[in-house]
Amino acid sequence: MKAIAGGKGTIEGLKGFGTTYDSKSFVSFFNKEGKIPAQNFTPPGPGSSIIPTSEMSNIKLNGHSIGRNQLYAEHQANLIMKDGAVTVGVGRETKNDVLYSDARDLPNEPGKVGNIHTHPVSEDASISFNRNGLSDSGSFGGGPSPADRDESYRPENTSGTVVVDSKNIYILTRGKQIVIPTK
Ligand SMILES: [Zn+2]
Repeated sequence: MKAIAGGKGTIEGLKGFGTTYDSKSFVSFFNKEGKIPAQNFTPPGPGSSIIPTSEMSNIKLNGHSIGRNQLYAEHQANLIMKDGAVTVGVGRETKNDVLYSDARDLPNEPGKVGNIHTHPVSEDASISFNRNGLSDSGSFGGGPSPADRDESYRPENTSGTVVVDSKNIYILTRGKQIVIPTK
């Protein structure tokens, strides 16, 4: 597995794999589509219901106050093979939710070899907020989730599934993971 980084298309040597990944396109995707304010927040865990972010106030992320327009949504895109490298295609999917999107709802596209999605938060995080006069709180993990690892085993994802956040690119292929810092 190799990754193209930087504007000159340099190759980061990642030995032992045969696929080239256009990591520059992954970072570009995050910068354009990973910072769009979320309309919904579905807390992790069974039985949780969707909370419209418009109903959330006094939001704190890791103890720091943030506006609701600083809660970003996960966005998905197809990965396609183009000119010998795995790069971001045109197909898109989002639930406009901070913690939830679904790669199975991506459209098909010629050359599709996998998928990529943004994570709005790069590290384990705690969140607290007020809603309807009550306070609520929760926590969620940074980096690929168990569902993301499961996604990497789906046979149609021949070049894997990629997670990108503000700090790292995670390339997951059948449970194996390579982490590339974005800076
Ligand atoms: Zn994820």
